[in-house]
Amino acid sequence: MTSQPASASPAIPDLPGVRPAVQAVPAYPFTPIDAPIKLDQNESAYDFPAELKALAADRMVGQLWNRYPDLHAEGLRARVAAFEDWDEAGVVITPGSNVLIKILTELGGIGQTVLTVRPTFSVYTLEAQLLGANLVEVPLNTDFSLPVEGLKAALRANPPGVLYITQPHAPTGFLDAEAAVREVVEAADGWVVVLDEAYHQYSGTDYRDLVRAGENRLSLRTFSKAWGLAGVRLGYALSSPRLAAHLRKLVSAFNVGVLAQVALEVALEHPGYVAERAAEVRRERERVYAALQGHPVWTALPSQANFYLLRTPDADAAYRHLRSCGIVVRRQDKLPMLGGCLRVAVGSPAENDAFIEAARAFR
Ligand SMILES: *Cc1c(COP(=O)(O)O)cnc(C)c1O
Repeated sequence: MTSQPASASPAIPDLPGVRPAVQAVPAYPFTPIDAPIKLDQNESAYDFPAELKALAADRMVGQLWNRYPDLHAEGLRARVAAFEDWDEAGVVITPGSNVLIKILTELGGIGQTVLTVRPTFSVYTLEAQLLGANLVEVPLNTDFSLPVEGLKAALRANPPGVLYITQPHAPTGFLDAEAAVREVVEAADGWVVVLDEAYHQYSGTDYRDLVRAGENRLSLRTFSKAWGLAGVRLGYALSSPRLAAHLRKLVSAFNVGVLAQVALEVALEHPGYVAERAAEVRRERERVYAALQGHPVWTALPSQANFYLLRTPDADAAYRHLRSCGIVVRRQDKLPMLGGCLRVAVGSPAENDAFIEAARAFR
């Protein structure tokens, strides 16, 4: 395959009957690329442990595949609630947290406002545009920290809706001071406040207490990153029972299949590997970061997630060089504030060695 275009998806010709908002939005900006070293999707470098996979497979055989699963994954909900020490009535599980982002946009965005920062996680803005919400993006501060005053002004200036805060932030990996996050969240009375904590295992942060303190608040979590289960597709929300009950109305019935449920049951019974791997990612992240410190032209930006931004003078040349070394990363250089930037996931130690060697060979 040839080099990946920055983020452009080919335009799809208009089709009568399709809502203009849908016609106007490009397809999700991702091109799958085959490479020996895949650092472009912030996935875990490791598969679900083989012995747990075997356990899950055994249990799958014991399921009835002809019967519908629980209406709203009730069995799984109880297990997630126990794992997170959360009221079961406040847990909502869907096939990936991206589904929850769509549903949150339906719940609070349509005909209302979706407020986020810029740059931000593309799914928030994509869903807002597809569903025709009033999308408001406040630029990050130049150091990538939360624009607290700008967000508070936007909260006052716009009719309420959904506010997204990502901690650590994506795609920068920046982690804000808790006081800054708290200040914005507390200013968002009358809004649905989403704290997307997709990467919290890597930063060691946890906003459950702040979320518990307001009925309009929600922590968005996923099994796709630190749990190494991106292929199984499961994510969840922790919120008040009231917010969860409204959200659940928007979740399609029987949304989580029995096979995914069984895989997650096994993971939740053996969660020890998650912390071990997150610790390895943190060590490796610092090792790669230190190794790149001496690079003549590339700068790795500090991150608290399992990925980091690499600022280069020429993102296209940097991207193509890495590809020629068998490494695929994600271009982010067309995003505001991210000129020249590539986003690189932290891989296994061997993958990181290969990445460091490729980076050093670039002149
Ligand atoms: C990866 C990611 C998610 C997870 O999405 P899933 O649909 O659960 O795989 C959520 N939010 C952010 C910011 C992410 O980067």
